Amino acid sequence: MTTIPTVTLSNGVEMPQLGFGVFQVPDLKECEEAVSNALKVGYRLIDTAAAYQNEKAVGQAIAKSDIKREEIFVTSKLWVSDFTYERAKAGIETSLNKLGMDYIDLYLLHQPYGDVIGAWKALEEAYHEGKIRSIGVSNFYPDQLKNLELSVSVKPVLNQIEVNPWFQQDDDVAFIQQEGMRVEAWAPFAEGKHQIFSNEVLTTIGAKYGKTSGQVILRWLLQRDITVIPKTVRRERMVENMDVFNFELTSKDIRAIAELNKNESQFFDHRDPVAIEQIFGSSLVQLRS
Ligand code: NAP
Repeated sequence: MTTIPTVTLSNGVEMPQLGFGVFQVPDLKECEEAVSNALKVGYRLIDTAAAYQNEKAVGQAIAKSDIKREEIFVTSKLWVSDFTYERAKAGIETSLNKLGMDYIDLYLLHQPYGDVIGAWKALEEAYHEGKIRSIGVSNFYPDQLKNLELSVSVKPVLNQIEVNPWFQQDDDVAFIQQEGMRVEAWAPFAEGKHQIFSNEVLTTIGAKYGKTSGQVILRWLLQRDITVIPKTVRRERMVENMDVFNFELTSKDIRAIAELNKNESQFFDHRDPVAIEQIFGSSLVQLRS
Protein backbone atom coordinates (compact mmCIF):
# COMPACT_ATOMS: atom_id res chain seq x y z
CA MET A 1 0.00 0.00 0.00
CA THR A 2 1.29 3.48 -0.91
CA THR A 3 2.22 5.57 2.12
CA ILE A 4 1.34 9.18 1.49
CA PRO A 5 4.06 11.66 2.52
CA THR A 6 3.14 14.49 4.85
CA VAL A 7 4.00 18.20 4.94
CA THR A 8 4.28 20.42 8.02
CA LEU A 9 1.94 23.40 8.14
CA SER A 10 3.14 26.78 9.48
CA ASN A 11 1.74 25.96 12.95
CA GLY A 12 3.69 22.68 13.13
CA VAL A 13 0.75 20.37 12.36
CA GLU A 14 1.50 17.55 9.92
CA MET A 15 -0.83 17.03 6.98
CA PRO A 16 -0.83 14.42 4.18
CA GLN A 17 0.21 15.79 0.77
CA LEU A 18 -2.63 13.97 -0.94
CA GLY A 19 -6.15 13.38 0.29
CA PHE A 20 -9.66 12.39 -0.65
CA GLY A 21 -12.46 14.87 -1.46
CA VAL A 22 -16.17 14.14 -1.02
CA PHE A 23 -17.87 17.06 -2.81
CA GLN A 24 -20.99 16.00 -4.74
CA VAL A 25 -21.48 12.76 -2.82
CA PRO A 26 -24.67 13.81 -0.98
CA ASP A 27 -25.96 10.26 -0.55
CA LEU A 28 -24.78 9.40 2.95
CA LYS A 29 -24.54 5.66 2.35
CA GLU A 30 -22.49 6.17 -0.82
CA CYS A 31 -20.28 8.72 0.93
CA GLU A 32 -19.66 6.45 3.92
CA GLU A 33 -18.75 3.58 1.61
CA ALA A 34 -16.43 5.79 -0.46
CA VAL A 35 -14.62 7.09 2.63
CA SER A 36 -14.34 3.53 4.05
CA ASN A 37 -12.78 2.37 0.79
CA ALA A 38 -10.50 5.39 0.64
CA LEU A 39 -9.23 4.63 4.16
CA LYS A 40 -8.77 0.95 3.28
CA VAL A 41 -6.61 1.75 0.25
CA GLY A 42 -4.48 4.17 2.28
CA TYR A 43 -5.92 7.71 2.22
CA ARG A 44 -5.48 9.51 5.54
CA LEU A 45 -6.82 12.98 4.63
CA ILE A 46 -10.56 13.42 4.06
CA ASP A 47 -11.91 16.74 2.77
CA THR A 48 -15.56 17.50 3.54
CA ALA A 49 -17.60 20.66 4.27
CA ALA A 50 -20.80 21.69 5.99
CA ALA A 51 -22.13 22.61 2.53
CA TYR A 52 -21.54 19.07 1.18
CA GLN A 53 -24.03 17.75 3.75
CA ASN A 54 -22.02 14.58 4.30
CA GLU A 55 -19.94 15.30 7.43
CA LYS A 56 -21.98 12.64 9.26
CA ALA A 57 -21.10 9.95 6.72
CA VAL A 58 -17.41 10.93 6.87
CA GLY A 59 -17.46 10.66 10.67
CA GLN A 60 -19.19 7.29 10.59
CA ALA A 61 -16.74 5.81 8.09
CA ILE A 62 -13.85 6.97 10.27
CA ALA A 63 -15.47 5.71 13.49
CA LYS A 64 -16.09 2.27 11.94
CA SER A 65 -12.55 1.95 10.57
CA ASP A 66 -9.80 0.28 12.58
CA ILE A 67 -7.52 3.30 12.11
CA LYS A 68 -6.77 5.50 15.11
CA ARG A 69 -8.40 8.94 14.96
CA GLU A 70 -5.01 10.67 15.33
CA GLU A 71 -3.76 8.93 12.18
CA ILE A 72 -6.50 10.55 10.09
CA PHE A 73 -6.54 14.21 9.05
CA VAL A 74 -10.06 15.60 8.73
CA THR A 75 -10.82 18.87 6.96
CA SER A 76 -14.21 20.54 7.03
CA LYS A 77 -15.45 24.00 6.08
CA LEU A 78 -17.88 26.57 7.42
CA TRP A 79 -20.48 27.83 4.95
CA VAL A 80 -21.21 31.53 4.30
CA SER A 81 -24.58 31.40 6.08
CA ASP A 82 -22.60 30.96 9.32
CA PHE A 83 -20.26 33.89 8.77
CA THR A 84 -20.88 35.94 11.89
CA TYR A 85 -19.03 35.39 15.16
CA GLU A 86 -22.03 33.83 16.93
CA ARG A 87 -23.17 31.71 14.01
CA ALA A 88 -19.64 30.49 13.36
CA LYS A 89 -19.32 29.33 16.98
CA ALA A 90 -22.52 27.31 16.52
CA GLY A 91 -21.41 26.12 13.06
CA ILE A 92 -18.18 24.69 14.47
CA GLU A 93 -20.17 22.76 17.10
CA THR A 94 -22.52 21.47 14.39
CA SER A 95 -19.57 20.20 12.33
CA LEU A 96 -18.05 18.51 15.40
CA ASN A 97 -21.40 16.90 16.26
CA LYS A 98 -22.06 15.69 12.72
CA LEU A 99 -18.55 14.29 12.42
CA GLY A 100 -18.91 12.76 15.91
CA MET A 101 -15.45 14.05 16.83
CA ASP A 102 -13.98 16.13 19.62
CA TYR A 103 -11.59 17.90 17.25
CA ILE A 104 -11.20 18.70 13.54
CA ASP A 105 -7.70 18.80 12.04
CA LEU A 106 -8.33 21.69 9.66
CA TYR A 107 -11.35 23.98 9.45
CA LEU A 108 -11.74 26.47 6.60
CA LEU A 109 -13.86 29.50 5.83
CA HIS A 110 -15.34 28.14 2.59
CA GLN A 111 -15.72 31.45 0.72
CA PRO A 112 -14.34 35.00 1.06
CA TYR A 113 -17.73 36.69 1.61
CA GLY A 114 -19.82 38.10 4.44
CA ASP A 115 -18.49 38.74 7.94
CA VAL A 116 -15.24 36.87 7.39
CA ILE A 117 -13.46 38.56 10.31
CA GLY A 118 -16.27 37.78 12.76
CA ALA A 119 -16.33 34.14 11.67
CA TRP A 120 -12.53 33.96 11.85
CA LYS A 121 -12.59 35.11 15.50
CA ALA A 122 -14.78 32.09 16.30
CA LEU A 123 -12.31 29.81 14.49
CA GLU A 124 -9.43 31.35 16.47
CA GLU A 125 -11.27 30.65 19.73
CA ALA A 126 -11.95 27.03 18.77
CA TYR A 127 -8.30 26.75 17.75
CA HIS A 128 -7.12 27.96 21.16
CA GLU A 129 -9.58 25.57 22.86
CA GLY A 130 -8.15 22.62 20.90
CA LYS A 131 -11.40 21.94 19.00
CA ILE A 132 -9.65 22.72 15.70
CA ARG A 133 -5.95 21.94 15.20
CA SER A 134 -5.43 24.33 12.25
CA ILE A 135 -7.47 27.08 10.66
CA GLY A 136 -7.48 28.23 7.07
CA VAL A 137 -9.51 29.58 4.18
CA SER A 138 -10.76 28.65 0.74
CA ASN A 139 -11.22 30.64 -2.47
CA PHE A 140 -9.48 33.74 -1.11
CA TYR A 141 -7.69 35.96 -3.65
CA PRO A 142 -4.38 37.53 -2.57
CA ASP A 143 -5.93 40.88 -1.57
CA GLN A 144 -8.62 39.16 0.52
CA LEU A 145 -6.01 36.94 2.12
CA LYS A 146 -3.79 39.91 2.97
CA ASN A 147 -6.75 41.79 4.44
CA LEU A 148 -7.58 38.82 6.66
CA GLU A 149 -3.95 38.33 7.71
CA LEU A 150 -3.67 41.97 8.76
CA SER A 151 -6.95 41.90 10.69
CA VAL A 152 -6.53 38.80 12.86
CA SER A 153 -4.09 37.33 15.35
CA VAL A 154 -3.85 33.72 14.08
CA LYS A 155 -2.77 33.56 10.43
CA PRO A 156 -4.43 31.02 8.10
CA VAL A 157 -2.20 27.99 7.51
CA LEU A 158 -3.68 27.16 4.13
CA ASN A 159 -5.79 28.43 1.24
CA GLN A 160 -7.79 25.85 -0.74
CA ILE A 161 -8.28 27.11 -4.30
CA GLU A 162 -9.08 25.77 -7.76
CA VAL A 163 -5.89 24.67 -9.53
CA ASN A 164 -5.82 22.35 -12.54
CA PRO A 165 -4.17 22.32 -15.98
CA TRP A 166 -6.87 24.63 -17.40
CA PHE A 167 -6.53 27.12 -14.54
CA GLN A 168 -2.95 27.01 -13.30
CA GLN A 169 -3.02 30.09 -11.05
CA ASP A 170 0.76 30.68 -11.03
CA ASP A 171 0.58 34.15 -9.46
CA ASP A 172 -1.90 33.25 -6.71
CA VAL A 173 -0.04 30.05 -5.87
CA ALA A 174 3.25 32.00 -5.63
CA PHE A 175 1.63 34.65 -3.41
CA ILE A 176 0.10 32.13 -0.99
CA GLN A 177 3.37 30.22 -0.74
CA GLN A 178 5.36 33.43 -0.17
CA GLU A 179 3.03 34.23 2.73
CA GLY A 180 4.11 30.92 4.30
CA MET A 181 0.77 29.20 3.71
CA ARG A 182 0.01 25.90 2.09
CA VAL A 183 -1.86 25.78 -1.22
CA GLU A 184 -4.41 22.98 -1.60
CA ALA A 185 -5.92 22.37 -5.04
CA TRP A 186 -9.61 21.69 -5.42
CA ALA A 187 -10.94 20.20 -8.67
CA PRO A 188 -7.44 19.03 -9.68
CA PHE A 189 -9.08 17.28 -12.66
CA ALA A 190 -11.39 20.24 -13.38
CA GLU A 191 -14.11 17.63 -12.74
CA GLY A 192 -13.20 16.09 -16.13
CA LYS A 193 -14.03 19.21 -18.19
CA HIS A 194 -12.61 19.55 -21.74
CA GLN A 195 -11.85 15.81 -21.86
CA ILE A 196 -9.00 16.26 -19.43
CA PHE A 197 -8.55 12.52 -18.93
CA SER A 198 -7.90 11.95 -22.67
CA ASN A 199 -5.95 15.14 -23.36
CA GLU A 200 -3.14 14.27 -25.77
CA VAL A 201 -0.41 16.28 -24.06
CA LEU A 202 -1.19 14.70 -20.69
CA THR A 203 -1.62 11.14 -21.98
CA THR A 204 1.61 11.38 -24.03
CA ILE A 205 3.56 12.51 -20.96
CA GLY A 206 1.91 9.75 -18.91
CA ALA A 207 2.80 7.06 -21.46
CA LYS A 208 6.54 7.70 -20.83
CA TYR A 209 6.08 6.69 -17.20
CA GLY A 210 3.27 4.14 -17.53
CA LYS A 211 0.88 6.64 -15.91
CA THR A 212 -2.57 8.03 -16.77
CA SER A 213 -3.46 11.62 -17.52
CA GLY A 214 -4.97 11.93 -14.02
CA GLN A 215 -1.76 10.73 -12.41
CA VAL A 216 0.28 13.21 -14.46
CA ILE A 217 -1.98 16.04 -13.23
CA LEU A 218 -1.64 15.04 -9.58
CA ARG A 219 2.13 14.66 -9.91
CA TRP A 220 2.37 18.09 -11.57
CA LEU A 221 0.52 19.65 -8.63
CA LEU A 222 2.63 17.81 -6.05
CA GLN A 223 5.80 19.01 -7.77
CA ARG A 224 4.48 22.58 -7.40
CA ASP A 225 4.31 21.88 -3.63
CA ILE A 226 0.50 21.87 -3.70
CA THR A 227 -1.67 19.48 -1.67
CA VAL A 228 -4.24 17.58 -3.77
CA ILE A 229 -7.66 16.16 -2.86
CA PRO A 230 -9.05 14.30 -5.91
CA LYS A 231 -12.58 12.91 -5.61
CA THR A 232 -13.80 9.57 -6.90
CA VAL A 233 -16.36 7.08 -5.70
CA ARG A 234 -14.63 4.21 -7.54
CA ARG A 235 -12.16 2.12 -5.62
CA GLU A 236 -9.88 1.41 -8.61
CA ARG A 237 -9.60 5.14 -9.26
CA MET A 238 -8.83 5.77 -5.57
CA VAL A 239 -5.85 3.43 -5.95
CA GLU A 240 -4.83 5.05 -9.24
CA ASN A 241 -5.02 8.57 -7.82
CA MET A 242 -2.70 7.66 -4.93
CA ASP A 243 -0.09 5.98 -7.10
CA VAL A 244 1.77 9.19 -7.91
CA PHE A 245 4.82 9.08 -5.63
CA ASN A 246 7.02 6.85 -7.78
CA PHE A 247 7.79 9.02 -10.80
CA GLU A 248 9.05 12.53 -11.51
CA LEU A 249 8.01 14.93 -14.28
CA THR A 250 10.87 16.65 -16.11
CA SER A 251 11.09 20.39 -16.69
CA LYS A 252 10.18 19.68 -20.34
CA ASP A 253 6.98 17.89 -19.22
CA ILE A 254 6.16 20.82 -16.94
CA ARG A 255 6.69 23.33 -19.77
CA ALA A 256 4.32 21.30 -21.98
CA ILE A 257 1.65 21.30 -19.24
CA ALA A 258 2.11 25.07 -18.78
CA GLU A 259 0.98 25.49 -22.42
CA LEU A 260 -2.43 24.00 -21.53
CA ASN A 261 -3.36 26.92 -19.28
CA LYS A 262 -6.65 28.56 -20.30
CA ASN A 263 -6.15 31.02 -17.48
CA GLU A 264 -9.74 31.04 -16.33
CA SER A 265 -11.78 29.26 -13.70
CA GLN A 266 -13.65 26.24 -15.02
CA PHE A 267 -16.48 26.92 -12.56
CA PHE A 268 -16.95 30.55 -11.59
CA ASP A 269 -15.03 33.71 -10.96
CA HIS A 270 -15.18 34.43 -7.24
CA ARG A 271 -15.07 38.14 -8.04
CA ASP A 272 -18.05 38.08 -10.40
CA PRO A 273 -20.93 39.93 -8.70
CA VAL A 274 -23.48 37.53 -10.21
CA ALA A 275 -21.60 34.49 -8.86
CA ILE A 276 -21.25 36.17 -5.46
CA GLU A 277 -24.96 36.91 -5.40
CA GLN A 278 -25.71 33.26 -6.20
CA ILE A 279 -23.42 31.95 -3.45
CA PHE A 280 -24.34 34.58 -0.92
CA GLY A 281 -27.99 34.98 -1.88
CA SER A 282 -29.20 31.64 -0.60
CA SER A 283 -27.20 32.24 2.57
CA LEU A 284 -28.72 35.66 3.18
CA VAL A 285 -32.12 34.09 3.60
CA GLN A 286 -30.74 31.98 6.43
CA LEU A 287 -28.76 34.84 7.95
CA ARG A 288 -31.83 37.02 8.18
CA SER A 289 -34.07 34.30 9.55
P1 NAP B 1 -12.11 16.59 -9.29
O1 NAP B 1 -11.44 15.84 -8.22
O2 NAP B 1 -11.34 17.49 -10.19
O3 NAP B 1 -12.86 15.58 -10.27
C1 NAP B 1 -13.74 14.60 -9.82
C2 NAP B 1 -14.31 13.89 -11.06
O4 NAP B 1 -13.28 13.14 -11.72
C3 NAP B 1 -15.40 12.93 -10.71
O5 NAP B 1 -16.36 13.01 -11.75
C4 NAP B 1 -14.72 11.55 -10.75
O6 NAP B 1 -15.65 10.57 -11.16
C5 NAP B 1 -13.65 11.76 -11.80
N1 NAP B 1 -12.41 11.00 -11.56
C6 NAP B 1 -11.70 10.95 -10.41
N2 NAP B 1 -10.59 10.21 -10.57
C7 NAP B 1 -10.60 9.79 -11.85
C8 NAP B 1 -9.71 9.00 -12.62
N3 NAP B 1 -8.58 8.52 -12.09
N4 NAP B 1 -10.02 8.75 -13.92
C9 NAP B 1 -11.15 9.25 -14.46
N5 NAP B 1 -12.05 10.00 -13.79
C10 NAP B 1 -11.77 10.28 -12.48
O7 NAP B 1 -13.34 17.46 -8.72
P2 NAP B 1 -13.91 17.91 -7.32
O8 NAP B 1 -14.56 16.79 -6.64
O9 NAP B 1 -14.74 19.12 -7.57
O10 NAP B 1 -12.63 18.38 -6.48
C11 NAP B 1 -11.96 17.55 -5.54
C12 NAP B 1 -12.31 17.93 -4.11
O11 NAP B 1 -11.98 19.29 -3.86
C13 NAP B 1 -13.81 17.87 -3.79
O12 NAP B 1 -14.29 16.55 -3.64
C14 NAP B 1 -13.86 18.71 -2.54
O13 NAP B 1 -13.43 17.97 -1.41
C15 NAP B 1 -12.90 19.83 -2.90
N6 NAP B 1 -13.57 21.02 -3.49
C16 NAP B 1 -13.52 22.19 -2.79
C17 NAP B 1 -14.12 23.33 -3.31
C18 NAP B 1 -14.04 24.63 -2.53
O14 NAP B 1 -14.72 25.60 -2.89
N7 NAP B 1 -13.23 24.69 -1.50
C19 NAP B 1 -14.79 23.30 -4.54
C20 NAP B 1 -14.84 22.09 -5.23
C21 NAP B 1 -14.21 20.97 -4.71
P3 NAP B 1 -16.04 9.30 -10.23
O15 NAP B 1 -16.35 9.78 -8.85
O16 NAP B 1 -17.21 8.71 -10.95
O17 NAP B 1 -14.84 8.40 -10.29
